[in-house]
Amino acid sequence: MVHYVAHRGAVRSNAPVRGRHNMKTKPQLKTYKNFVNNDWTASKKTREVVNPFNGTTIAMVAESSRKDVDDAVAAAREAFDRGPWRESTAQQRGRILFAMADLVRKHAAMLAELETLNCGKPIVESEFDMSDTASCFEYYGGLATKIHGETLPVPDNALNMTLREPVGVAGLIVPWNYPLMLAAWKLGPALAAGCTVVLKPAEQTPLTTLEFARLVQENIRELPPGVLNVVTGDGPVAGRAIVESMKVDKVAFTGGTETGRAILKGVADSNLKKVSLELGGKSPNIFFSDADLDAATDGALFGVFINQGEVCSAGSRILIQQDVFKKLVARMKETLPRIRLGDPLNRETKMGPLVSKDHLQKVESYIEIGRKEAKLIAGGRRPSSNQLKNGYFIEPTIFESGNNSRIAREEIFGPVVTCIPFKNEDDALEIANDTPYGLAAAVWSRDIFRCLRMVKRLRAGIVWVNTMQPCYVESPWGGYKQSGHGRELSLHGIEEFLETKQVHINLSEQPIGWY
Ligand code: NAD
Repeated sequence: MVHYVAHRGAVRSNAPVRGRHNMKTKPQLKTYKNFVNNDWTASKKTREVVNPFNGTTIAMVAESSRKDVDDAVAAAREAFDRGPWRESTAQQRGRILFAMADLVRKHAAMLAELETLNCGKPIVESEFDMSDTASCFEYYGGLATKIHGETLPVPDNALNMTLREPVGVAGLIVPWNYPLMLAAWKLGPALAAGCTVVLKPAEQTPLTTLEFARLVQENIRELPPGVLNVVTGDGPVAGRAIVESMKVDKVAFTGGTETGRAILKGVADSNLKKVSLELGGKSPNIFFSDADLDAATDGALFGVFINQGEVCSAGSRILIQQDVFKKLVARMKETLPRIRLGDPLNRETKMGPLVSKDHLQKVESYIEIGRKEAKLIAGGRRPSSNQLKNGYFIEPTIFESGNNSRIAREEIFGPVVTCIPFKNEDDALEIANDTPYGLAAAVWSRDIFRCLRMVKRLRAGIVWVNTMQPCYVESPWGGYKQSGHGRELSLHGIEEFLETKQVHINLSEQPIGWY
């Protein structure tokens, strides 16, 4: 067992810890409770958290029951309905978000290391995530004071205006691929808007979110109890309890499309709370023959293999114009060994393990399907190195197939890509849009007219030209079709946490005079 606190000195306080480090015996595993009403509350059951690099248990967390979640929701409800948060000014909320950004920046090294230990992504990528997490809090800290209503020129002797108000108690449900960063994408706008929250990280990767809650508890005294609550546990129990709660006003969810479907059903059967969904994708990365070959090779590989391919917007279908198909695929294969698999804490590592054993098995099962229905170009095995044998590693894998194979249609969410040839612009568009998803797309060409025609006709929420994957807090993120509802980040992101109230003030002192 690895006790990361003892081994790495990552955590200074024992506030959320039940099991303490005892020097006489072997180090006890750190056990986290739920963070509810500014306190740490135990649940009856616990769950192991595993380091995917070596399969060891690194911490224990609460396995929340429906009752545990209901308690957290009750705290958030009370804080929203009656607590001082209700009277907080936008300036105060903004300052709290700036303080959160400062905490993340100050503790970025510890949080990045913990993120890597817990989800397996290379440390350099975790460091970027922490910087983006802080930027997100800063953006919404600044935005808090810029949210306002409008006055409307109604045809009457009246003053008509809108007020922007927080939607209420928000349930924030987060996946495992960018744990703290995706929590910030929801928490930033929710708090800026004046909501209170119950935040549930993914069962596999709760540690940075819990450490963030600890940092907030210890350092941001201005945040009233019950505004930020964190519960951990299984999706179908703890997540579902948030979704079905009659006291939650909104669910902001990021995760798989099938889970999104279950959430809509849960919402329909409870209180019709508002929902935003950031779901899966099968995004096309499209290369015309005039694209620069070096940039294309780099962009094709980066577009899908960053973060082990565990990226919602991964360019997992690489569409290549016929006349350069063989050349580009050969260059990708030639370059593949540069994606160095290894200990994700090593700064030279370019690809870490997948998040869990279950996920590794899922990705391998798709590789098996691919071997039968498509042509394997490279990869497809677990690495042979002894150092990696206990980790959930799989080689970056390239297939060639048509767009109708299962590996070209279903989201694999790992380092597996399908290369698909196309003839011309219309053909590329038809293949690109022939998917139930619509999260992202990228087009590579030196012909700007062609690029712009493609941009207009691609059915996706994000379209990149001559690049793939940059993501900015200033710009909206979200999908068309079955990739989701609503948008995160930017000004659009805060809309998801606001209600609009129309206020009409009659300025005439005469009776209506109808009867
Ligand atoms: P998942 O849907 O299995 O789980 C996501 C979260 O939902 C977890 O916290 C989980 O506990 C919870 N959950 C599971 N079942 C639930 C239920 N019935 N009710 C309520 N909550 C439930 O997804 P995952 O495997 O963690 O993440 C991978 C998926 O997330 C991929 O499909 C990926 O494309 C998607 N994703 C999308 C975006 C985006 O911005 N569109 C970003 C990252 C990941």
